[in-house]
Amino acid sequence: MDTEKKISLLADSARFDLSCSCGAPETGRVRDPLEPLYKWIYPASLPQGGVMPVLKILMTNQCVNSCKYCFICTDKEQARASFEPEELSRLFMSMVKKRLVKGIFLSSASGLNVTRTMDKIIATAEILRFRHRFRGYVHLKILPGADAGHIEKALHLADRVSVNLEAPNAKRLENIARGKNYNELLSKIKQIGNLIRSRPGRARSQTTQFVVGAARESDKELLLTTTQLYKDYNLYRVYFSAFQPFQGTPLENLQPVPLIREHRLYQADFLLRKYGFRLDDIFFNNTGDLSLDKDPKTVWVEHHPEMFPLEVNKADLGQLIRIPGIGPLSARKLLDLRVRSKFRRIGELRSCGIRIEQARNYLLVSGQYSPHAEQMKFDFSPAAASSGGIQ
Ligand code: SF4
Repeated sequence: MDTEKKISLLADSARFDLSCSCGAPETGRVRDPLEPLYKWIYPASLPQGGVMPVLKILMTNQCVNSCKYCFICTDKEQARASFEPEELSRLFMSMVKKRLVKGIFLSSASGLNVTRTMDKIIATAEILRFRHRFRGYVHLKILPGADAGHIEKALHLADRVSVNLEAPNAKRLENIARGKNYNELLSKIKQIGNLIRSRPGRARSQTTQFVVGAARESDKELLLTTTQLYKDYNLYRVYFSAFQPFQGTPLENLQPVPLIREHRLYQADFLLRKYGFRLDDIFFNNTGDLSLDKDPKTVWVEHHPEMFPLEVNKADLGQLIRIPGIGPLSARKLLDLRVRSKFRRIGELRSCGIRIEQARNYLLVSGQYSPHAEQMKFDFSPAAASSGGIQ
């Protein structure tokens, strides 16, 4: 198979791996001999902040497993291809020289032999780092079945590594991926987390991914495991990928998971990582799922009318970031500006980046309700205010 065909097969297959935090591929560049590659270039967010264009590609789409949710699974008829390390590193460096990409996210199916596939992933990264002296961003996938030696080497070569858990616990994973062992995956994540923490190797972070809804798990199960991964496993990010059925796979008749569910999980995850929320601050319905109609922060404030309204000239950071429309950056800016002079009107909060339309229902500015107070969901009467709701 020629290189161009391999690229379209192996880059197309890689688009379902979200562990590199990629957005949509870039488009609209001028014509070039490498143009078939352009659609596989993604803007990826970096461990130290910012984004850069990366090539997202698989080493191989051959696989010995038959994970029920996966369109690469062995039961499905499709063309198979593999790169050799020399071939892939040459291809990637030609893109670097043309300034098309600054990094690579190298993932893979298991191949016919996991050890050999991991050897190839490592060999590709070694060629890039040592022969081509590539100093840019490298994200390497750690496959189920990778050994300790692979992990050590990957951590020295990559900026980021990922092990995909796919499901939030052993029972759920067994339902959708019999070839995978949840506890083994978790112990790899633990080992990587310990190595990143204890040794100043190159890799600075690790991520993982869940396929949302394939195992009929609840959001609560996903977020419970997510909080444990952040707390005990030194994980940088969890990515959520809404299940979509593929024809010819065992789950082809399962309904696709709406993207809004994935979005709500990201919102809850954000609250847990950046807003000081704990899992018991997140409200779930009686099936253990997040509301699809309202974001988790709005649901939280609706369960805590006793906390509002807040006086913007007195509220602290922790209180402010609980309000819909106020994030950590805008809250800090508000605190900085407040030192110089008090806020007198709700419109002044725009200069902090606060989304007033969302926040006004929960705020007082110099003791005044918003002119749109009639839209508020809570009792903002003076009686309610004097009962301790105003801070
Ligand atoms: S191991 Fe499972 S998820 Fe990964 S490529 Fe193979 S079938 Fe797909």
